[in-house]
Amino acid sequence: MPLRVVPLGGLGEIGMNSMLFDDGESALLIDAGLMFPDDTMLGIDYVIPDFGVLREVANRLKGLLLTHGHEDHIGAVSFLLKEFDVPVHGTPLTLGLLRHRLEEQGLDGAARLVPIGRTERFRLGGFDIEAFPACHSIPDGVGFILRCGEGVFVHTGDFKIDPRPPDGVPTAIARLSRLASEEKVTALFSDSTNVEREGYSLPEAFVGEALSEIFGEAKGRVLVAMFSSNIHRIQGVLSAAARHGRRVALCGRSMVRNVATALELGCMKLPRPDILLPLEEAETLPGRSVVVLTTGSQGEPRSALTLMALGEHKHIRVREGDTAVLSSKFIPGNERAIASVINHLFLAGAEVLHEKISEVHVSGHASREELKIMIDRVRPKYFIPVHGDPRFLFRHRNLAREMGVPHPEVALNGDVLEFSGGEMARAGKLAVGRFFVDGRGVGDVESFVLKDRYQLSQVGMVMVVLALSSTTGEILYGPEILTRGVLTENGSEASVEEARGIVLKTWEESGVEARKDPTEIQTDIRKALRRYFNKRLERKPVILPVVLEL
Ligand SMILES: [Zn+2]
Ligand SMILES: [Zn+2]
Repeated sequence: MPLRVVPLGGLGEIGMNSMLFDDGESALLIDAGLMFPDDTMLGIDYVIPDFGVLREVANRLKGLLLTHGHEDHIGAVSFLLKEFDVPVHGTPLTLGLLRHRLEEQGLDGAARLVPIGRTERFRLGGFDIEAFPACHSIPDGVGFILRCGEGVFVHTGDFKIDPRPPDGVPTAIARLSRLASEEKVTALFSDSTNVEREGYSLPEAFVGEALSEIFGEAKGRVLVAMFSSNIHRIQGVLSAAARHGRRVALCGRSMVRNVATALELGCMKLPRPDILLPLEEAETLPGRSVVVLTTGSQGEPRSALTLMALGEHKHIRVREGDTAVLSSKFIPGNERAIASVINHLFLAGAEVLHEKISEVHVSGHASREELKIMIDRVRPKYFIPVHGDPRFLFRHRNLAREMGVPHPEVALNGDVLEFSGGEMARAGKLAVGRFFVDGRGVGDVESFVLKDRYQLSQVGMVMVVLALSSTTGEILYGPEILTRGVLTENGSEASVEEARGIVLKTWEESGVEARKDPTEIQTDIRKALRRYFNKRLERKPVILPVVLEL
């Protein structure tokens, strides 16, 4: 049987990474991540891959391998486990972060979590699996070498090549070079995120040094906002604070929890036993001795940082003399929210530093020169870019082509790649979809719901309530017209009156039979009002007629 490789997510977008390897006797999944919604997905919490295609391989699915603990790699595990009972293999920190998510879903008891070392070699079904360290913005990351009857496959996971890795463990380039000289690598699947960045990514240690400088120079408190999963950087903050006689207050549930997990697993060390400070004291101690470490670097409207800037946070209020540092990327789509929190921070009297004006953030993903090193050392026959929007995948493929890789190929979600006798063939496309997760609902938000939400947000809603007698069709109540977000300017009263007139006219013009059929009259009212609002206001609000039979 050939080996079939099918990306279920992440090839064509940033997020929801998941890839299936299936040799007909055993199957493996690498990662099961989520994607955060873009601004067209109103009210959606996140998006996950549709794992439905796994039903066909369920009886031979031997395990899920996790590369690292970021949400775009582990965020959909709980949804996967609800349907498929597979063991989950990951390094201790990755599993530690996953456990938090599973606890929230009440799944922690049932899940089979199998810790692995960063260089561990083990078997699952017909696959010989070898982990290798991958340096990234979160500790304990790995890539995988998979060996099976159809060849040797390397999946990098998310990586950069940091010459000064914070935990002292570099990306295993030497191991991969040796692999390439001892065994031929059939295919390399490599992280495409930063293929558009020339040169090399900056080492994480730079950020620690930049923060240390800021802590030394700032006269008052320093508030540092970042993602709570960036354990290396949190360590950098703790060490820099200790150097300048500051103590650190942690703010945000995920921040407190992730620090506790990292300390427990030895992925983080306190530079001084008393370095952590209760949040309440951050408001009363002299500013020069305090750092507040918080989430909310993306300007999320109810996040701690935003509340602090607005003076609405329970413990911390931003004041004159504070310095705020946004130590993370401006994620596309969040720029407006970030600009807004920066403005509020200034209004509250703070100085603000961010990646555009200061070296307070570096990426966890390899730039072009590092990607070239990876391709050069692994020397694969086939090259398949992963992790990114289509344009990143195509550019990364072109890069591999320039480097003389014999078969660089772009694959997208659902594409079936069949490896047999060292050759790859394309074997069609599986219908892989995505599910929108909204509160407790999974997949029950369809695209038409999103369209409605978009329309509601843009042009508002008009609701018509009308009660008719089921025997005569006469009007017993209404028509009452309610609007939301439609009629704001002067004359809205008049518009409502006119709309009411149109509803009455529609009713009058409909025959006796139609008056007794609420669906028919609802359709007529919707059409008439749509015409009216389009003509009168040049708008297309969502029109919701409710016709009751009494
Ligand atoms: Zn990552
Ligand atoms: Zn990622």
